[in-house]
Amino acid sequence: MNRSWLVGVFVATVLLHGAWVVYTQSQKPPGPLRIERVKGELYMISGEGGNVAVYVTSEGVVLVDDMFDRNHADILAQVKSVTDKPLKYVFNTHQHDDHAGGDLKMLPIAEVIAHRNARANLVNIKQPYYEDTPGTPIGLPRVTFSDEASVYLGGKEVRAKYFGRGHTSGDAVVFFPDLKIVHTGDLFLGRRAGRGGTTVPNRPPGVNIYVDYAQGGSFLDWSRTLDGALTLDFDTVIPGHGPVSTKEDVVKFRADLETMRNRLAGLVKQGTRKADFVRTLETDYGWRATGCPPSPPTPGCLQYQQSDAMMAELGQ
Ligand SMILES: [Zn+2]
Repeated sequence: MNRSWLVGVFVATVLLHGAWVVYTQSQKPPGPLRIERVKGELYMISGEGGNVAVYVTSEGVVLVDDMFDRNHADILAQVKSVTDKPLKYVFNTHQHDDHAGGDLKMLPIAEVIAHRNARANLVNIKQPYYEDTPGTPIGLPRVTFSDEASVYLGGKEVRAKYFGRGHTSGDAVVFFPDLKIVHTGDLFLGRRAGRGGTTVPNRPPGVNIYVDYAQGGSFLDWSRTLDGALTLDFDTVIPGHGPVSTKEDVVKFRADLETMRNRLAGLVKQGTRKADFVRTLETDYGWRATGCPPSPPTPGCLQYQQSDAMMAELGQ
């Protein structure tokens, strides 16, 4: 055993230990969750991360999304509070860690299903995400689909549909045809009174969205993708974030998104400089820029950090 080999092992051990300390120290404690009935045997868990849909059937439970890795035990406890049926399937609306961060822990107990692009994003980028839990262990879904996938359980159907790019390249809309309800993932965000997304009177119409260009998102395609979702026969909506909403809320969101996008595209095409473009995002649409580093991915700064990609797309 030569000396340089030993030094190498020592250095590697120190680095690994350092990485582990960074990972464990960046783990937040899980926040409190709550479960509410949306309609019939469909429930929504919320409180942290993205909304989770819980569909109870006589043969087992289907979830849509599984929040952060740290929320896993509490999600199972919330499901247990409404049914004794076993968890069977988990659909991912997309791969961000506030929606699919629990996949690794779900894989031994349920079949996890995602759009093929969502899985590819996990494989290619090797981080589900971005902001909240760097170092979260990734669980790769075993089942993927391209256009549509249905689970039939206990005489009920849960159908995932792909309508194109938007928030990412792999956004699924999950439809519960018996209940006329959809879970939109982050393609649509509910508005909560007095919180982010609330209409500010002196601001132009806009929406509090995040176009994740690093993972295939598209501002140009987003409204067409919502048009696809709006062809489904639903009246009630579980948004990626925010309260249970209606189909009319999605129609309004789509219109505001298009108004904002057309205005921003106009600015880019007029040759607006990046500094002015970013300032418009901040003052008129509440997308934080001031104090944001260009990298690494920072909570609250994600859209700013991808503004070059947005300007490139809107300038087409
Ligand atoms: Zn997301």
